[in-house]
Amino acid sequence: MRPLAILGGTFDPVHLGHLCVAWEAAEALDAEIALVPAHVPPHRPPPRATAAQRVALLEAALAGQDVLRLDTRELEREGPSYSVDTLAELRGEIGPDRPLLLLVGADAFAGLPRWNRWREIFGLAHVGVLTRPGEHPVLDPELADEIAPRRARVPAGPAGQVIPITVTALDISATAIRDLLAAGRMPRYLLPAGVVDRPGLLAPYTEVP
Ligand code: ATP
Repeated sequence: MRPLAILGGTFDPVHLGHLCVAWEAAEALDAEIALVPAHVPPHRPPPRATAAQRVALLEAALAGQDVLRLDTRELEREGPSYSVDTLAELRGEIGPDRPLLLLVGADAFAGLPRWNRWREIFGLAHVGVLTRPGEHPVLDPELADEIAPRRARVPAGPAGQVIPITVTALDISATAIRDLLAAGRMPRYLLPAGVVDRPGLLAPYTEVP
């Protein structure tokens, strides 16, 4: 059964770093990938773009292919969502047998013990750790102990493993893109062509607030 993998994030805006790792994960796992834009919790700095604007950017970025798709469920729910709740909802929809993966960057993975009900995630999904060549984040002992018996090279079964996925290191961040756009630059080759072709989508980042 083809795995389903999700990549969450703010996507403020979506950039080629996101699409590159999502695509490489799709190929490595032979998986369907859903990008899941997050509600930003009230205690975090608000995104520059509204949820609707971030969705429009993602739709433009994903046009013309059907390996990566958009899942707006977290924006449709009231308030911020925890990954564990999103995975539980997806597990309810896809049934108990299909492999489900949560994709996280290696840095974010090192912070997993600070996530809400983090151990429950392994009952719902595998965790795919997007790892750049040479990247070895230090894991705290609690996390290292939890994952030691879970390490695997390919997903077997519906959930419960930790799978490293080697991805190309692209030093692109949404923060750097927002800074370039605010300075009047056009980071044409850091952004998806579908976004660059519709510059109006970038207005939230170029307009003086
Ligand atoms: P910001 O600069 O606003 O913090 P960001 O570029 O890190 O944003 P997010 O929306 O926070 O983007 O990222 C969503 C997910 O994509 C995260 O899991 C993050 O680790 C991953 N990601 C972001 N940029 C890259 C990149 N250049 N290469 C690989 N993964 C990336």
